[in-house]
Amino acid sequence: MKKIISIIIAATMLFALAGCGKDAANNSSNNQGAADGKKIIVMGTNAEFPPFEYREGEKVVGFDVEIAKKIAEKLGAELQIEDMTFGGLIPALEAGKIDFIAAGMSITEERKKNVDFSNGYYKASQVIITLKDNTEINGPEDLENKTIGVQLGTTGDEEAQKIQGAEIIQFNAGYAAIMDLQNDKLDAVVLDYEPARNFASQNDKIQILPVELTQEEYAIAVRKGNQELVDAINTVLEEMKESGEYDKLVEEYFSKE
Ligand code: GLN
Repeated sequence: MKKIISIIIAATMLFALAGCGKDAANNSSNNQGAADGKKIIVMGTNAEFPPFEYREGEKVVGFDVEIAKKIAEKLGAELQIEDMTFGGLIPALEAGKIDFIAAGMSITEERKKNVDFSNGYYKASQVIITLKDNTEINGPEDLENKTIGVQLGTTGDEEAQKIQGAEIIQFNAGYAAIMDLQNDKLDAVVLDYEPARNFASQNDKIQILPVELTQEEYAIAVRKGNQELVDAINTVLEEMKESGEYDKLVEEYFSKE
């Protein structure tokens, strides 16, 4: 029964999101670099996570960047973006190199020990990606003793580590894992649904299994104790939802091919 529900949920998501892809880009700019006298707020991210953050030429763009721009606007600051490995984000935040993390980062109890989170802004899950001609792996129970690619330090990494006898190969970018899957070096990849969907829309050799391994929620992380910034971010998120801007972004980034 649970499996059937998962399949229905995944199928609904696939339908709703059919066609999201790299063309969901826009003509945004990152406002990188210092401006005359204006306060600067620094967003840390890992631009390997379409459609939340990815590169378009030199620019980092995506759903999270659009939200970050609104946060900067609210604070009367100029947005600067620092692109780094996912695992480097929390240390960079703690060291004061960045002011907040907008990186499709899921709220976890473990992370809450080191950062404060805004309210959640997007529901997410981990999914399994295999080659379309793979008939052997149909769900998490078939991953035992398999070679699985993950993105280092992510909730997908954590989830895969729990699988009995599996060999986990950690990559700095989900895309690199997909490439190794395509080259038969991996049996499966565990990744967040949206980027998985994005990669699958551009690669007809891979498929996403209709099973959700986790239920997660993305939020923006700030340094512990920075309540002022959490409040400002939550206000921005609320305002974006009320004004319809949030839905517009969802439409723009998740529903185009
Ligand atoms: N949502 C996942 C996590 O928080 C992956 C995020 C990412 O790779 N940018 O671990």
